[in-house]
Amino acid sequence: MKLKSKLPDIGVTIFTRMTALANESNAINLSQGFPDFEVAPELTGLVYKYMQNGFNQYAPMQGVMPLRERIAEKTFRLYGASYDPGTEITVTSGATEALFAAIAAVVNKGDEVIVFEPAFDSYVPAVLLSGGIPKYIKMKPPYYIIDWDEVKDAVSDRTRLMILNSPHNPTGSVLSKDDISSLRKIILETNIFIISDEVYEHIIFDGISHESMAGYPDLASRSFVISSFGKTYHTTGWKVGYCLAPKTLSAEFQKVHQFLTFSTNTPVQHAYAEFLKNEKAYLGLSGFYQEKRNRFLSLIKNSRFKPVPCRGTYFQMLDYSSISDEPDTVFAKRLTVEYGVAAIPPSVFYHRNDDHKALRFCFAKKDETLEKAAEKLCRI
Ligand code: PMP
Ligand code: GLN
Repeated sequence: MKLKSKLPDIGVTIFTRMTALANESNAINLSQGFPDFEVAPELTGLVYKYMQNGFNQYAPMQGVMPLRERIAEKTFRLYGASYDPGTEITVTSGATEALFAAIAAVVNKGDEVIVFEPAFDSYVPAVLLSGGIPKYIKMKPPYYIIDWDEVKDAVSDRTRLMILNSPHNPTGSVLSKDDISSLRKIILETNIFIISDEVYEHIIFDGISHESMAGYPDLASRSFVISSFGKTYHTTGWKVGYCLAPKTLSAEFQKVHQFLTFSTNTPVQHAYAEFLKNEKAYLGLSGFYQEKRNRFLSLIKNSRFKPVPCRGTYFQMLDYSSISDEPDTVFAKRLTVEYGVAAIPPSVFYHRNDDHKALRFCFAKKDETLEKAAEKLCRI
């Protein structure tokens, strides 16, 4: 029997492939984005406490109420936005699930979706599975900014959705207040929904503040704002995220979510709810990662790699054009196998595989890991 693939052009993700190659080659893995340091013992202790106290059965489909309440409080405190924990907040199995559910809820066959490239790899497959048509707009290097005139020209009667991501993976660019005002000028006259991928909301540098869609009522009223506790609490393997959206949008979102996963890990949700009371754990994250970024940059200062400006996330792009003119996918493999450092080739985040001769390195690592990796990079 022959199965007709719904995603004929999609293979195994770059994260899976590069991590496997890093492990096989015994290389330092700065490819897939995850921290190599420990989770706060208080947080793991809380998970254990809730497991021992019998919180081991299905959570409510929308997420456990204490967690939804803490998310609502935090969103109000940070962005001045009120979301009703009863009807406007859904806890999901990672941001990946939230992205898929939001796209599936909004996109009908033939709808156009504006996607900014380079784009995190889960967006387009979800659009295609819903019969949507991606309309690609390239962000402009070296700062990877959005040309809003191009966005205006790309909008048509069939545009149903725009997917934004700030701070941006893989480039580290962030949306500014000016970007938000350009976005409003274009979108408020239309029927276009927004998915705002804000998983790195607490990892933003150099005194810049995060512009959440939640903070702009006219934009929030058409937005699914998505975040992830994996990034904020160094727990990418626990896979818990959430989606904020007005009641009618959340209702449609939940129709999909309830049949994708139904609900998310119960004891971990309770643990996050209790841990969220400690604001410092997330408010201190930008400072923590800014130091990591600066340390990594100073360690590779004398190498032949040239840094691309990074304003947020835990990724640093490095230009390797003075070392090699190989395609980034080829250079990434050679760097892993021959030099012992794995990184992500950003061309995989473009539908036409644009190659800017740069690689993405994850600096969410212990200082000693960064030092060892930098030593290898400086030898090239
Ligand atoms: N969006 C972006 C931009 C990401 O970098 C990630 C990282 N994994 C995700 C979504 C998915 O988050 P999660 O691990 O919570 O599914
Ligand atoms: N978000 C992580 C990254 O960009 C990994 C996501 C994944 O492995 N699917 O590296």
